[in-house]
Amino acid sequence: MTDRVVTRFAPSPTGFLHIGGARTALFNWLYAKHTGGTMLLRIEDTDRERSTDAATAAILDGLTWMGLDWDGEPISQFARAARHREVAEAMLARGMAYRCYATQAELEEMREKARAEKRPPRYDGRWRDRDPSEAPEGVAPVIRLRAPLEGETVVHDLVQGEVRFPNKDLDDLVLLRSDGTPTYMHAVVVDDHDMGVTHIIRGDDHLTNAGRQTLIYQAMGWEVPVMAHIPLIHGSDGAKLSKRHGALGVEAYREMGYLPVALRNYLVRLGWSHGDDEIMSTADLIQWFDITDVNKGAARFDYAKLEAVNGHWIRASDDADLVAMLMVERDHLPNGAILKARPDAEVREKLTAAMPGLKERAKTLVELCESAAYLFAARPLALDEKAAALLDDAGRAVIRDLAAAFETLSDWTVEHLEGAVRSYAEEQGLKLGKAAQPLRAALTGKSTSPGVFDVLAVLGRDESLARLRDQAA
Ligand code: GLU
Repeated sequence: MTDRVVTRFAPSPTGFLHIGGARTALFNWLYAKHTGGTMLLRIEDTDRERSTDAATAAILDGLTWMGLDWDGEPISQFARAARHREVAEAMLARGMAYRCYATQAELEEMREKARAEKRPPRYDGRWRDRDPSEAPEGVAPVIRLRAPLEGETVVHDLVQGEVRFPNKDLDDLVLLRSDGTPTYMHAVVVDDHDMGVTHIIRGDDHLTNAGRQTLIYQAMGWEVPVMAHIPLIHGSDGAKLSKRHGALGVEAYREMGYLPVALRNYLVRLGWSHGDDEIMSTADLIQWFDITDVNKGAARFDYAKLEAVNGHWIRASDDADLVAMLMVERDHLPNGAILKARPDAEVREKLTAAMPGLKERAKTLVELCESAAYLFAARPLALDEKAAALLDDAGRAVIRDLAAAFETLSDWTVEHLEGAVRSYAEEQGLKLGKAAQPLRAALTGKSTSPGVFDVLAVLGRDESLARLRDQAA
């Protein structure tokens, strides 16, 4: 039997969960689900200056909203500092690490020398073989890895292939600082080992770290997890992702009205594909996702595609689910106040009645909310410019006639309403649009809306007639 897969997502809590991090989390989550394994969450909060509780909370919220759950409690890296020290001491005892007493001035000198000789800065190993009895007084040592000087370190990466690092380029990195705190490089290895992580899936900006971390595993005689370094996300123009391109926190995507299911569907395609499939349910993704199918090349972020995918998932969602979602998301949407203009029960009822028409045309929840605004608008309706133009003298005459015709209807149904408008247009020798457009303007205050007969039916007899009378005068 093969071991169960354990992946982990290991964000640094220095800001929101950004879109690249969300995709890394998604890949880890999918791979764990695909293999029947687990995904752990580790908060890399060792950098005390930059880590904040607010950022941790925002990351957990972002993951939860994305529907990416983790197994067990989130693990704080900082809380494990004693264990990091213990492992560094164990390495000392095994002779795989040593105490280094080089002063800041000496290290600066080494850097200067390297700069002058135009080579990468490298610690020169001066304490590697020196007897600790020579230690200068009053200098607190750091603990450094006794890295191999020759040969090479090979990372067998599921995405990048075999990546080779000549050992002469990997110097004796610091494991423990002089104040006893672990370096990031050391903490990550100890944690991944202790947490039983079998697969490390992360951005390829960590690829060189993988070489150094491999040396730490080897020094402890630990098995190196399988590595998969996924390509970074670039902007649509191929440049590194910036704010302008969409390098925002997931909460920004929430505010723009994207559905978690759509974001998952879109993000997974940045680096991974399944034939030509663009629309994939989360169940499909779990079934099909394999980390070995991730491409090496940078993926490009494209808002238009994200919108199209989102529009699809809005149309594919159940009406009741969309209503429930809007009631929650209204607190996050810039125009969410529209859904607070009436008592909740009324808002829910109207949204439910109107949803089949509304969802057909909305690409985001913001648009959905906007197009639902007519349901809750106060009379007399404020008209936008195009609607006002449609309600010129001729338009108002149509409204008067139609209002009179509707008053006589026995049944306020889409069929009867449509029948009445069609006969009226025929009698008057008007194209249907010439009657329907002013009608839409008077009912919604806009020139576009869901089907106008649906609008009439959803608004109901009293409200519709009142809105028509408001504009007929
Ligand atoms: N904390 C690192 C980051 O946020 C990730 C480290 C890792 O995945 O090994 O970039």
